Amino acid sequence: MSGKGIKENIRVVLWSGGKDSTATIILAHELGIKIDLIVMSLVWFDKKKKISAENTAHLKWVTEYAKPLFESWGYKVELVSSDKDYLYYFYFKRQKSEKHPETVGKYYGFPLGGFCRIQRLKEEPIKQFLKQTRKQFNVIEYVGICADEKPRLEKMHKRKNQISLLEQSGATQQQAKEKCKSYGLLSPIYQQGKKRGGCWFCPNQSIAELAELKQNEPQKYNTLKELAKVENTVVRGFKYGKTFEQVDAEVDAYIANPPAVQLSLFDYI
Ligand code: SF4
Repeated sequence: MSGKGIKENIRVVLWSGGKDSTATIILAHELGIKIDLIVMSLVWFDKKKKISAENTAHLKWVTEYAKPLFESWGYKVELVSSDKDYLYYFYFKRQKSEKHPETVGKYYGFPLGGFCRIQRLKEEPIKQFLKQTRKQFNVIEYVGICADEKPRLEKMHKRKNQISLLEQSGATQQQAKEKCKSYGLLSPIYQQGKKRGGCWFCPNQSIAELAELKQNEPQKYNTLKELAKVENTVVRGFKYGKTFEQVDAEVDAYIANPPAVQLSLFDYI
């Protein structure tokens, strides 16, 4: 802190690894803007066993390629994570329920699509980081919102200390993607035909994605299969009311007879 009560500015990028926050870092680098810290929040499936929730190829790209490259540009990159993990919430026992008292004492089980508790594992460490940092510094956030994202920009303009370099340079979402590509900094999730990242156990995934998980990372898929056998859970379904068994049958049917045209990422079917 400099002077009496005057906080120094600290320039921060909250990096998801997606194209927009990555393009923001590239733009800062091109424009010679000093970023003091790039922060990424990583979610654990099983923290004890060091099993991440992230897409495997994406995590490898983050840790082995993108992070070292940003560091070579002189930017400090910090990976933060919660003390809790997916399994903590899966085995968390319901404390009370006026509507369904019969569920009190049961494990919560699989996260519910649309009400996912795992989101907190990503958001909490960032909130904590910002809270701590703001005690000492005036945090200027460089956010990855593109020039063609008007509603998001309008919200951003109402907030204090947020800047979008993508907006300032007039870059659209497509141009942000091209910018990442030109630096070899487009996460492999985009090459897998995905529009955004997400946890490998996400209930919002399409059957096509679950089929990919079953074929390419059967140990992870089988972990879900084993969790589905746990009794005494509040949530009995895995994906929008369907049990894991039902979803698994759809996955097998997809693998046996894949459609000619790939389904969209989050088709919720
Ligand atoms: S990607 Fe899916 S499982 Fe992960 S936090 Fe988001 S909604 Fe939850």
